[in-house]
Amino acid sequence: MTKIEKCGIANCGLTAAASLESETLCREHFISACYARLDQYDEIRNGTGLRTGDMESVRRFINESTRQADAMEQTAKGLDNLDRAKLVHIILSASELGRHLRRSPRKIAAIAVRLSSEKLGGAWEEDTETVLVSRYGALVRCKHPAKAGETVQVQRADTGESALARVAWQRPTGTEDVRVGVEFLSSENFWGLDWGAVEEAR
Ligand SMILES: [Zn+2]
Repeated sequence: MTKIEKCGIANCGLTAAASLESETLCREHFISACYARLDQYDEIRNGTGLRTGDMESVRRFINESTRQADAMEQTAKGLDNLDRAKLVHIILSASELGRHLRRSPRKIAAIAVRLSSEKLGGAWEEDTETVLVSRYGALVRCKHPAKAGETVQVQRADTGESALARVAWQRPTGTEDVRVGVEFLSSENFWGLDWGAVEEAR
């Protein structure tokens, strides 16, 4: 955050450290807002289930909360162990929620991409292809080890378009042919597919 903003919760007045759905929040209120949303989604999931219309907002929440909790956990000054544990809990709960949502339509498609990681001390790039694509990410062949939570850049070989993605998980399928599941942080419909039609075709 470049300019100093205040937490949007009435009577708080602390410096904003994050935002959710464009509301600025201090660290404490960000944590409690994330917990409230995660509880709410738990209830929906155990009850009526999520509707397709809710999925976009849940996705947005997962992306926003994970990215910011992760950044906060790594960079915030004066973070005590309890706050740190809460942030890690948010990241894990959000990724678990993401796994539940991953029933969104997927399409088997080999699309040539370049994966690159700017990991400190271990940057790499690899020309490879997808195995499976979904609206929110892809399963990609990848020889380089990538840990869950790491950020990678995905660039399409055909259009040159690129987007940041987070490694959600990695599945070794032998010694050489490792696959990673990635979820986009920034792109809407990176693959340019008509997902409504993909869903109907299932
Ligand atoms: Zn606050």
